Amino acid sequence: KIAFLNGQFAPLAELKISVMDRGFLLGDGVYEMIPVYQRVAFRLDEHLARLAHNLAQVSIENPYSRPAWREHIQTLIQAQTFVDQSIYLQVSRGPAYPRQHAFPLQATPTVLMFADPLEPPPAQAIESGVSAITCDDLRWQRCNIKAISLLANVLAKQEAVDAGVAEAILLRDGVMLEGAASNIFIVKDAVIYTPAPSNLMLTGITYDVILELARQHALPLQLERVTAQMLREADEVWLTSSSKEILAIVNLDGQAVGNGQVGPIYKTMYGLYQDFKMTVMHR
Ligand code: PMP
Repeated sequence: KIAFLNGQFAPLAELKISVMDRGFLLGDGVYEMIPVYQRVAFRLDEHLARLAHNLAQVSIENPYSRPAWREHIQTLIQAQTFVDQSIYLQVSRGPAYPRQHAFPLQATPTVLMFADPLEPPPAQAIESGVSAITCDDLRWQRCNIKAISLLANVLAKQEAVDAGVAEAILLRDGVMLEGAASNIFIVKDAVIYTPAPSNLMLTGITYDVILELARQHALPLQLERVTAQMLREADEVWLTSSSKEILAIVNLDGQAVGNGQVGPIYKTMYGLYQDFKMTVMHR
């Protein structure tokens, strides 16, 4: 499988980085996951804009211009044997010696990209929904940065896996923020609610698409604080991410969400999302 490291394309298994890389030692870097449908990267400009913003947030110089990123990603996509892909892209602050917390005086960012086959969620999950648990949000205060230091997310996701469910929904002081690796929407009385972007959640590219689709199709939408109580009393709960697209959560902490079935607004939004994907692919 052909991957990309610091400007070179080579088989993934042959790529090597320094053990002094600050991504490895300190989790000092940012990343993106970009879905690719039929060799067309979905919302590429939005992903590259978020990456640029995240790099600026952590004072890592953006290693490439926008056209250069596009070209490298295009080459990576063409080098794969499969057409639906999930591109993982990571920029760390790079190798530096000695190990220290503060930024090194000189460092060249390490840029890694590889592609995996994009597996859509199973039909069963789309048709019947998935289960989730809630857990305490133990992360820091800058969750809007898509940082590679993901230990709190890893532990939350493992809690979900141990409980036999698909996602962990994170609550901070009685407020619902997002999933361990997704954004969360709820529906109550045909109104869609989701938290407004803040430093306490990642603004998902999929989240933005859902907001656009809701507005375009005049579905009632409120960006406001969603309390744990609103979550528990919701008619529908959805999770969204680049890899999961949009899935209904029909069981939360062992209790049915609404009537325990995939809801009508979910079905509408799922359809709109699939149509939107098609228009992008055929442009
Ligand atoms: N929040 C978190 C914490 C995530 O890890 C992700 C997915 N990586 C998302 C939200 C969804 O973001 P996106 O729609 O860009 O995949």
